Amino acid sequence: MIGPWCFLDHYGPTEVNSTRSRMNVPPHPHMGLQTVTWLFSGDVEHRDSLGTVQEIHPGQLNLMTAGHGIAHSEVSAETTRVMHGVQLWVALPEASRHGAAAFEHRADLPVVDLAGHAGRPGGRAIVIMGSLAGATSPATAFSPLVGAEIQLPAGAAVAVPVEPDFEHGVLVDTGDGVTVDGAAAPMSALVYAGPGRSSIALEAPGDAAARLLLLGGAPFGEDILMWWNFVGRSHEEVVAAREQWQAGLVTGGGRFGRVDGYDGPPLPAPELPKVRLVPRSQR
Ligand code: MN
Repeated sequence: MIGPWCFLDHYGPTEVNSTRSRMNVPPHPHMGLQTVTWLFSGDVEHRDSLGTVQEIHPGQLNLMTAGHGIAHSEVSAETTRVMHGVQLWVALPEASRHGAAAFEHRADLPVVDLAGHAGRPGGRAIVIMGSLAGATSPATAFSPLVGAEIQLPAGAAVAVPVEPDFEHGVLVDTGDGVTVDGAAAPMSALVYAGPGRSSIALEAPGDAAARLLLLGGAPFGEDILMWWNFVGRSHEEVVAAREQWQAGLVTGGGRFGRVDGYDGPPLPAPELPKVRLVPRSQR
């Protein structure tokens, strides 16, 4: 984990040239987490069991707070030619994880300039969650965290100001030759930076622009248990959630609700492994 960030799926760029290569995720449940949908390219239609139908485009945020339980589907739009983005999960702390489900779409995220130094170009950041460089995202958060897309033109050198109490990760999406704190960071690398610093130095190579994702937060302090689409604390809790999802496949409702308007059946849960699930330690 990096702060409360507990899952990062970095996908694409993938050309969408047939129905087979579309993004098409049938209705499935979540609990105990927020899903953060962030696109670099492509358009995705989200539907959930609250009745939400929301298309999302690059530069916008779809934030779904699962709380006690929700179900959703995600399908790439007909217009999509290239799918490229990240799917992130934020673990909810004990005080918030049993709460009501919610969904929010944000097309008004703040953008901040990052000054260049040593005579080199600066960059800019879109603040997705939390605060960065004096700007704060309107998105709802339940523990101290930050998430931002950072865009650096060729040759840029910036020192991104960060919370000393946070730990951070920097994902390099594009930009062959990027450095993080002076060390080479290949594309798709996730570079970890521990607490106790006030900035992170990022540099783009002289011949290519770079795009990075900054994730951070206060160390989470709770041992979580992740299985399939659930974040819980105990084996019994995950077993119960799985059973309630499977029961809802028959009754068409229940704890996680029903997603209307998706063309196809919901996703059955996989079998549980024949072992007792245990939380992963933060230490
Ligand atoms: Mn999902």
